[in-house]
Amino acid sequence: MAYDYDLFVIGAGSGGVRASRISATYGIKVGICEDFRVGGTCVIRGCVPKKLMVYGSKFAHAFEDAAGYGWSGLEPKHSWATLRDNVGKEVDRLNGIYLRLLKDSGVTVYMGRGRFMDRHTLEIGNETITAAKFLIATGGRPEMPDIPGREFAISSNEAFHIDDPLPKRITVVGGGYIAVEFAGIFNGLGSKVDVVIRRDRVLRGFDEECRDFVHKSLQDSGINVRSDTEVVRIEATNGKAPYRLHTKKGESFETDLVMYATGRVANTQGIGLEKVGVQLDKKGAIAVDEWSKTTAPNMWAVGDVTDRLNLTPVAIMEGHAFADTEFGGKPRKGDHRNVPSAVFCQPELATVGLTEEEARRTLGEVRIFATHFAPMKSTISHNKQRIFMKLVVEAATDKVVGVHMVGDDAAELIQGLAVAVKAGATKAQFDSTVGIHPTAGEEFVTMRNARPEPAPTKAAAE
Ligand code: NDP
Repeated sequence: MAYDYDLFVIGAGSGGVRASRISATYGIKVGICEDFRVGGTCVIRGCVPKKLMVYGSKFAHAFEDAAGYGWSGLEPKHSWATLRDNVGKEVDRLNGIYLRLLKDSGVTVYMGRGRFMDRHTLEIGNETITAAKFLIATGGRPEMPDIPGREFAISSNEAFHIDDPLPKRITVVGGGYIAVEFAGIFNGLGSKVDVVIRRDRVLRGFDEECRDFVHKSLQDSGINVRSDTEVVRIEATNGKAPYRLHTKKGESFETDLVMYATGRVANTQGIGLEKVGVQLDKKGAIAVDEWSKTTAPNMWAVGDVTDRLNLTPVAIMEGHAFADTEFGGKPRKGDHRNVPSAVFCQPELATVGLTEEEARRTLGEVRIFATHFAPMKSTISHNKQRIFMKLVVEAATDKVVGVHMVGDDAAELIQGLAVAVKAGATKAQFDSTVGIHPTAGEEFVTMRNARPEPAPTKAAAE
């Protein structure tokens, strides 16, 4: 049977675009559909616009530091409209580049939502296409708890389009990646920021000491973190700001904007997955094997819709591996081990490998090398900023199995060290590497003494 396409991809985000472009280079006929904008969450309303806004807000700290370095007469004023609109223009430019990349690769682009009619037929608006194989790369979307007044809150999707001027008081609900990143952005741009978290500290799942460090850094930068509580109701004033937030602890406070960042869910609805035998896992994401294959024989899925490691470069890796395997004659699985990642809070957190807690649980004896210090830049500007660094070493092999840092440029540094961790570098090899002076990074190769291990408790010794 002849199909319109050898491969049809649903969703033109990072994973879908990479998979379709690489597949097309192998000489097959590829189509892709997208119901919002080509580029996906990362380019359109995630990593890219977020990072530009982080850059924008970080000037605030630079202005503060400048006085100690002899600068005076600075009376900076910020225009949210300028930042927002410039970020929007850059997103438009990237959207155009992604579209061009697809077209130049010979991929046919359909704008519209794809819905399966059967295992080989997809409806996109008024059109119907057929394909031998399908790749589902529909990503995820923000999820908000169902509380009274939730309609008054925005998610990170809308945060890039807030009306000018930026509200004076902003409340961010949640303590994950997105929450701490936006708290830093709004704080730097001059809003008074509250963060409401249901646990004692932000960033569950990261190394515990890094969590402590980030939590304290948020507070030191003037962000009011309301821990161990939840927002139970949002009241508006005649349907708009200011809003009154009521918490589980019985407190209430006023704010001008509420942003929820309480996690994301896979986009699996409305595609007709049930019709074609694509099963979901317990969390509602598409269940796949290590080749990204779904439970339907001619269908694969990559990226956030599979809820493995929800990071852009991981979706790209999965999409590329799928294309190489299915159409390039080079079978390979994506490698989800030792994936580095960063949280662009201020200062940022970056990490690769195991946390201390994971290493102790899975490897047994470990050696921990950790340090914290004031960055050189802070010495004469007297800001409160500190840097934290940690190496987790497997005692039996001397291998560095985890590297963690909170501090300026942590992501840039950890990207390089991730190569060493992936290559299985030992602590002795770290020690034999000469540092670059004066940098923060040199501390990673000069930490000589392992932290003394706590004496085993009587129960553990027995
Ligand atoms: P996360 O899952 O990271 O964090 C969700 C936060 O919301 C947690 O603090 C969670 O608390 C809290 N929460 C969940 N439900 C509720 C509730 N009902 N009431 C109150 N609090 C709640 O989600 P994000 O939205 O921050 O990010 C989603 C994904 O996007 C991440 O998995 C990440 O991989 C990706 N991402 C990556 C970035 C990067 O690489 N820099 C940047 C942004 C996103 P608790 O801890 O108690 O569960």
